[in-house]
Amino acid sequence: MTLTLRPRRDEVGLKDGQLFVDGKWRPADDGATWTHRHPATGEEIGEFAVAAASDVDDAVRAARRAFDEGGWPTSRATTRIQALHRVASLLREHAPELRGLQALDNGVPLSFSANIYATGVEAAADVFDHHAGWVDKIGGQTLPPYQGGDHLAMTFREPIGVVAAILPWNAPFLLFAQKLAPALAAGCTVVLKPSEFASFTVLRMVELLVEAGIPDGVVNVVTGPGAPTGEALITHPMVDKVSFTGSRAVGRRIVAASADTLKRVSLELGGKSPALVFPDAPDVGLAAMTTMGTVTMGLSGQACVSHTRALVHRDVYDQFLAAAEMMAGAVTYGDPFEPATMSSPLINTRQLDRVLGFIERGKDSGARLVCGGERVTGDLAEGNFVRPAIFADVDNGMEIAREEVFGPVLAVVPFADEDEAVRLANDTEYGLGAGLYTTDARRAFRLARRIRAGTVGINGFQVEPHLPFGGFKQSGLGREGGQSAFEAYTELKTVLMPLTDEMM
Ligand code: NAD
Repeated sequence: MTLTLRPRRDEVGLKDGQLFVDGKWRPADDGATWTHRHPATGEEIGEFAVAAASDVDDAVRAARRAFDEGGWPTSRATTRIQALHRVASLLREHAPELRGLQALDNGVPLSFSANIYATGVEAAADVFDHHAGWVDKIGGQTLPPYQGGDHLAMTFREPIGVVAAILPWNAPFLLFAQKLAPALAAGCTVVLKPSEFASFTVLRMVELLVEAGIPDGVVNVVTGPGAPTGEALITHPMVDKVSFTGSRAVGRRIVAASADTLKRVSLELGGKSPALVFPDAPDVGLAAMTTMGTVTMGLSGQACVSHTRALVHRDVYDQFLAAAEMMAGAVTYGDPFEPATMSSPLINTRQLDRVLGFIERGKDSGARLVCGGERVTGDLAEGNFVRPAIFADVDNGMEIAREEVFGPVLAVVPFADEDEAVRLANDTEYGLGAGLYTTDARRAFRLARRIRAGTVGINGFQVEPHLPFGGFKQSGLGREGGQSAFEAYTELKTVLMPLTDEMM
């Protein structure tokens, strides 16, 4: 029987979405809406408002007023600390409902969202708790006068102002938290734009922010696609900072658009992260299954930190391929609410065509397709499902090894020694993450230092609230997570004052 998810809408309590401006829910000025089609079934799941430039202008002005005239940036520390902790508690309390909404948005199965920490509600709640802790701990410095004399020189960290926070569709819980928690902790006000492919989850989380007591105008939400909504936001002259997570192409557009008013920009972009597997890995089979798992389980490889390039020593190459293939064969698709479903469809038909195109060109390029790469048929034929593909004997110059496919595709490149492995690992325009599998601790740290990537995992990998996360090279600008995230929502100010009647 063909899969249907429409009945889940009422079970989960999904309702059509509106804009949230200055503390009020409202439709778009011109009444425009977007219909969300589920990626697993193609069914219409719900509608939400598409914010035009006039709606975005209202939202930015509300955030501006809340920043310039409202009390949030100058509020007592406890006001912000308690509000952020309340958000964390509400997220935990509503976790099952939020996981259901996400399954209706982007098709990520509950088996994944309920059990994998980094993209789950628990991690998002922990991020709010973590940043509540920074509110009263970030100060400046007091510095001695450089040229002698008698004056004070101090630095302060001031909230940066109005933040445009733009989210992708693949990890709405975590990325909502990674942007909002530090911005609100620092005293900023925000206009949030969720992805048009994961809006219902974010709209519900905003209701929880309101319940937690975040004042009117401090957080505003504009839903809609890149044009008109996103464009109106990134070009608005009253926005002080754009904090963006998404594709490299849109990241470049944001940098270009920031030039007019010299907005501050933080970018968390894509990757082509390598896993380096040495013969002395603790368990080559497990390394292969973990690597393949990052391009199959849960998000079907639609995760920025997926290890999509396996660089494997020739001595364990065949062993690696056999275990990766076993993992590929174990992946199950279907109803995201069923515990047996392990992975999700590709987010939309555009992405489906794009991934199938990479697979076809991979075959033409001479790489060896070990398994997968075809669409799933039968009951799931209406969905955007592709069987996990492994390409072996890949040359690092091939498209399949260079471009972010954002789908269930692993490119396996053999290497002979450590230097070749490092050269291949760094031969990429990206630099988000890397994985090292070896029991030689000195080699592990030697390579961790040589690899040009934002996060290197040695025999494992995890995203945690207190750790900086971000990319070298074209994987981004700046870091989320921990103290560095809080600081990214502040400006450093220097204040000087003579202590005598003498001028400085
Ligand atoms: P995307 O770039 O297509 O969209 C991201 C967001 O930008 C969406 O909200 C979209 O509506 C908006 N947007 C699109 N065009 C815009 C424009 N002209 N102006 C303003 N906003 C615009 O990305 P996606 O498909 O949602 O997400 C996948 C990408 O995100 C991948 O490249 C992935 O690697 C990356 N990603 C990175 C991280 C990280 O932390 N580094 C995390 C998750 C996803």
